[in-house]
Amino acid sequence: MTRKVVIIGSGPAGWTAAIYAARANLQPLVFEGAITEDNQTKGTLPLGQLNLTTEVENFPGWPHVDSGAMAQFLQSALKPAPERYENLQHLSHAQGGARAAFGPELMELMRQQARNFGTEIVTDDIVSVDLQRHPFSVKSLSGETYRALSVIVATGARANYLGLESENRLKNRGVSACAVCDGALPMFRNKPLVVVGGGDSAMEEATYLTRFASKVYLVHRRDAFRASKIMQDRVLHNPKIEVKWNRVVEEVLGKDFVTGVRLSSTVDSARETLEAAGMFCAIGHTPNTDFLQGQLQLTPKGYIKWINPFRTWTSVEGVFSAGDVSDDYYRQAVTAAGTGCMAALDAERWLAAKGYD
Ligand code: NAP
Repeated sequence: MTRKVVIIGSGPAGWTAAIYAARANLQPLVFEGAITEDNQTKGTLPLGQLNLTTEVENFPGWPHVDSGAMAQFLQSALKPAPERYENLQHLSHAQGGARAAFGPELMELMRQQARNFGTEIVTDDIVSVDLQRHPFSVKSLSGETYRALSVIVATGARANYLGLESENRLKNRGVSACAVCDGALPMFRNKPLVVVGGGDSAMEEATYLTRFASKVYLVHRRDAFRASKIMQDRVLHNPKIEVKWNRVVEEVLGKDFVTGVRLSSTVDSARETLEAAGMFCAIGHTPNTDFLQGQLQLTPKGYIKWINPFRTWTSVEGVFSAGDVSDDYYRQAVTAAGTGCMAALDAERWLAAKGYD
């Protein structure tokens, strides 16, 4: 059986593409990723990066709501999949009062919305693809091969972390890779925070966090930033930011939540401890494109290239991409969802133009 649309990836881009494709009667098949230890370690489990975050306060249409009302809403929306609701219950219990939706809650709702319109879901990774011949074929980790008239790649990107054991243990407990997602959380308010990195993201995150933090330490491993001059200037003139040049984080301190970091010097044997409620890594992202094995044209930074501005067309006709796997710039849930919609519409129009409808 040849599918009309195969969607690879299960973040906001993948599910939005599925919702649109399903409603266009294209019976999409989504590979949401496999639940494996390798994916756990890399941060590439099903439901994407949003599933790894806490509250999502910037997704339009999701203002704060009473925790009990949110639980009731989730239970009702996920009625066809009560076991998925059970997996979320601990979130409502953990946080009473008014709150935004948590990342995992939003992702379950998007997944359910795609299912409601007839999306078929396979909980497996795609490990290789053949995009040179049409119909395309994609091969799963469990060894199955599927054929498709069109493919939407929405496998996202993963944030790079330092790779410390203490950092891994305290992820979502003060360690984050997204200041825009997590910076305004109460746990960071009026507390000193640490940002690691020397690129534009680090400048942007450090500047952004000064809105909430009492002070921001910017830790960089060299004595010069690679960020653009204007972004550097903003940091260097901000009285709330102190740059720790030639320093690396050796250990993140804290038992249940981050309480500080221990730094070591990259030029001498100096060490110091900083008190901080959070550490934000801004040391780049890695797009999840390994399985493509060079079959699609990539940008110099390794992201899937859109060959026409403002279209989700890739270098192979009939293959589209959406979300962070094609975006090293905006990287927001709402932009990923937007490009997921675009990819489904592009696929639908391409299939129709080729007479496949
Ligand atoms: P980036 O430019 O690659 O910078 C990564 C930074 O992390 C570098 O300073 C690097 O240090 C440091 N780093 C990497 N691995 C590290 C490690 N293991 N330990 C400690 N430090 C480490 O990444 P980015 O800042 O995310 O920017 C990505 C792209 O998005 C860039 O093109 C950027 O211009 C763009 N961007 C633009 C804006 C904007 O214009 N508003 C905002 C954000 C991002 P070294 O310098 O020593 O290599």
